[in-house]
Amino acid sequence: TAAALEETITPSVQISYTQHLINGQFVDAASGKTFPAYDPRTGEVIARVAEGDAEDINRAVAAARKAFDEGPWPKMSAYERSLIMLRFADLVDKHRGELAALESWNSGKPYEQSAKSELPSFARLFRYYAGWADKIHGLTVPADGKHHVQTLHEPIGVAGQIIPWNFPLIMFAWKVGPALACGNTIVLKSAEQTPLTALYAAKLFPRGLPPGVLNVVSGDGPSAGAALASHMDVDKIAFTGSTETGKIILELAAKSNLKQVTLELGGKSPFIVCEDAEVDKAVELAHFALFFNQGQCCCAGSRTYVHERVYDEFVEKAKARALTRVVGDPFRKGVEQGPQISSEQFEKVLGYIKSGVESSATLECGGQRFGSRGYFIQPTVFSNVQDDMLIAQDEIFGPVQSILKFKNIDEVIRRANTSRYGLAAGIFTKNIDTANTLSRALRVGTVWINCFDVFDAAIPFGGYKMSGIGREKGIYSLNNYLQVKAVVTPLKNP
Ligand code: ADP
Repeated sequence: TAAALEETITPSVQISYTQHLINGQFVDAASGKTFPAYDPRTGEVIARVAEGDAEDINRAVAAARKAFDEGPWPKMSAYERSLIMLRFADLVDKHRGELAALESWNSGKPYEQSAKSELPSFARLFRYYAGWADKIHGLTVPADGKHHVQTLHEPIGVAGQIIPWNFPLIMFAWKVGPALACGNTIVLKSAEQTPLTALYAAKLFPRGLPPGVLNVVSGDGPSAGAALASHMDVDKIAFTGSTETGKIILELAAKSNLKQVTLELGGKSPFIVCEDAEVDKAVELAHFALFFNQGQCCCAGSRTYVHERVYDEFVEKAKARALTRVVGDPFRKGVEQGPQISSEQFEKVLGYIKSGVESSATLECGGQRFGSRGYFIQPTVFSNVQDDMLIAQDEIFGPVQSILKFKNIDEVIRRANTSRYGLAAGIFTKNIDTANTLSRALRVGTVWINCFDVFDAAIPFGGYKMSGIGREKGIYSLNNYLQVKAVVTPLKNP
């Protein structure tokens, strides 16, 4: 497992942007305060970043308000907006290496993952949304009576966007892409753990993007984030993060101006391995479903349900696979798993591992920190997990696989659906009837059959139950950033 951790590989990028981006200018925090950004490989501070609070949010919202109410953005031709987004995607491609290095440096995710998967996906998302910009239009409505009725699909206005640290750039694209395509202006608050790439990316926008259209404020949730969610001049708030914080966002929106809200929250996704499964393939996919991105995915397949007929073989092989997972410096070639994002998350995950051991699940492998510095955790596998254990109920957000045994399809449907979450599910079977039965019965926003984490720009993503409100990506995401105006005119000479 061990790739050397002793010498830290130096990322090939400079940290150039640490101030807020407000009205097209980089500016210090109103308070003058800064906070540290860390390298999770070592826990060392790599930059000090402007620390936003309510006053910075006020300034950013004022800029976004002006750019919406007076600025050319919502009135610009949709084709021009589309071209600006396409040009941005080209610039992202050009700066792919730096952006990927910065993303991995600040978040600990493998550089190869950033450079080969996430950055191409980031550019693709902007091209996808650029494609929508000039295809948004209303309807002509055949109402009763002598009236000409049409609907206009208009931007909502100033969009507040609060994003998490597990996929800083991808989350930026899911939020900023559709908001811009629909003609909104934006105040984005990045996660306090990962402020760097949002600033870098926002700075890459070509000059054609008028000042104030996209503002980026760094800072904490309870100060900057809460100020954005409760701002009276923000028309819409989109949030991705924990279910607990999602509830706060909805409450703040309700208590202030009833701004529209979309939430993409936690999950505890079942990954169901049926009795006909080819075990080797099922093991590999279940491993990927859980361990990808250090296990820090809202949709991670974190309840691995395995049919009793293949259970023993599956557990043996899942353990063997976890033991070969390459943990190490995310900048080293071939490394599959870097550090967790922060000391807080590191402690939290180790706490859940302890709880698993105490609740008498069987610890098959892992369970300890990896190395002696930074926030690395050994790939960990528990078997013999029961539904009522904490590790089967809570979102762990770490490299901890929990394997549960089941006997038949009705039982696994019932058990999979007992979760308060409903984000995603994986199904592994060759039987089309089993796949159809499961995919219709599971109360989740995404079902992956014989695949997992397929994230195409066109595929909607979002949660049932306490996993969220609304859908991002695809045609569905446009609804989040548009409102409908009905326009009625009498017909004089029908
Ligand atoms: P995590 O536990 O994964 O860090 P959070 O939901 O706390 O998830 O964080 C996701 C985003 O929400 C971050 O940008 C964070 O700053 C923000 N946030 C956290 N608490 C609040 C809050 N009370 N109000 C607004 N935003 C918040």
